[in-house]
Amino acid sequence: KITPVKYKRILLKLSGEALMGDRSFGIDPEVVQDIALQVAEIVKDGIEVAIVVGGGNIFRGINGAAKGMDRATADYIGMIATVMNALTLQDALEQLDDPIPTRVMSAIAMQEIAEPYIRRRAIRHLENNRVVIFGAGSGNPYFTTDTTAALRGAEINAEVILKATKVDGIYDSDPKKNPTAKRYQSVSFDHALINDLRVMDATAFALCKENGIPIIVFDLGVTGNIRRVVMGESIGTYVGG
Ligand code: UDP
Repeated sequence: KITPVKYKRILLKLSGEALMGDRSFGIDPEVVQDIALQVAEIVKDGIEVAIVVGGGNIFRGINGAAKGMDRATADYIGMIATVMNALTLQDALEQLDDPIPTRVMSAIAMQEIAEPYIRRRAIRHLENNRVVIFGAGSGNPYFTTDTTAALRGAEINAEVILKATKVDGIYDSDPKKNPTAKRYQSVSFDHALINDLRVMDATAFALCKENGIPIIVFDLGVTGNIRRVVMGESIGTYVGG
């Protein structure tokens, strides 16, 4: 069932892997183009879109640390990786036949290539129908871009966090191991917590729960899914209240 425009301001969390497609590293331009088209579709519907992008397709701090790097330094490299992804997305959105104005805001100063993150300015961009892409995570090591999504989502008063993944929602057991695994259509924060359903990492989840920001986990691989979610179609898993 489709209700017209359920959400007016959303925060879309894209993992680095979402840009990778079937590759094992880096960026697949065709996948990025598809994401840009999906985002453009909802921007044209008048929806305000903020994006937090990860960096796992390029570098993860924890992997660097596992090989002996200083964790904080490794995390900074991870944050810089997210800026590369943010610029890639910006480029894709602005190269569309019908370009979508986009601003990249970085949590680490990189004044030549991105605006600094200033909350009020981010909100202003959204009001002017510019897509805002948040790069460099939260700017702090030891955090993740999921946590950044929860944080920025709260800061800009996003109505919902759309967590785009490669699976079509949250299951009661691993669907790869258990053929009778059932997908939740909707699940409460408490139920997710008690049953250890991994929606986001614990810090991100706690922030969303505390601030009452629902999360919808859905499959980005199906073209048009972003719009389906925003229009209130029941795909993926809704985690809330
Ligand atoms: N990172 C960080 N602080 C943040 C966000 C990210 O230190 O606030 C670093 C961390 O090293 C992480 C990397 O950036 O591994 C890439 O982000 P993430 O792993 O969240 O990306 P995703 O899994 O979404 O691709």
